[in-house]
Amino acid sequence: MLGRDHALSGALAFAALAPEMHVSAAYLATGIALSAGAGVLPDIDHPDSSIALTFGFLSNSFSWLVQKISGGHRHLTHAIPGILVFTAGALTAGRYQLSGPHPPYAAPGSPAWHPALFWHLVPAGIFLTLLYAAALRALKIGGHHGDLIAMAGAAATIYFGADLDVIQFGPWHVPLIGLATGIGCVAHIVGDELTHGGCPLLYPVSDHEFHLLPRPLQITTAKIAESYVVFPLLAIGLAFAVWNAVHPGR
Ligand SMILES: [Zn+2]
Repeated sequence: MLGRDHALSGALAFAALAPEMHVSAAYLATGIALSAGAGVLPDIDHPDSSIALTFGFLSNSFSWLVQKISGGHRHLTHAIPGILVFTAGALTAGRYQLSGPHPPYAAPGSPAWHPALFWHLVPAGIFLTLLYAAALRALKIGGHHGDLIAMAGAAATIYFGADLDVIQFGPWHVPLIGLATGIGCVAHIVGDELTHGGCPLLYPVSDHEFHLLPRPLQITTAKIAESYVVFPLLAIGLAFAVWNAVHPGR
């Protein structure tokens, strides 16, 4: 599946689940944007994917490394253990951010300001920038300015602590950064399971590829069915889910 459709499916999944989470409009927007980015995150195991190209040669080299250690494209990052690693990583970055300074932040130079405190914001800042930039790149929004928009978005998200907002989802209470990452990754796996390739959900225990559709209905990436059926359905579904999420209790 194309990065564009993975990003849309991540956004759609979050928007569709939002009425269960009782999130405010600002957190809904943040969650949708983060889930769109997380929707392309599993393809970090492919050096040509939109997320691998986000930070130029830095993310490209990292992606090459991930491909080497995760068993190749569509292996560990497209399996249940991979989703757990991504989500745990996001939660760890959030927890580290939480252990540092809290908004409102002291201005540099004032007595309460200390550079060491701001290291707590760095892992979450990099991760949030990566997700926003990957979503913008996959959806072809912002062009060359996409990365700058992503950095500004990540800075604003951290400034307001929006990524740390604890959301009730079923029996769990999860910070938005972890919830959006998990939802986006699951949406990605579901999308790839609609294609001929499938996903090895139990890797590294088993190489078996899981599919959600019988073989004749499976989608071939970037072919007519994806452009003229999957993409419009995702776009319409997202618009409907967002409308539904901001008009609860109709
Ligand atoms: Zn994939």
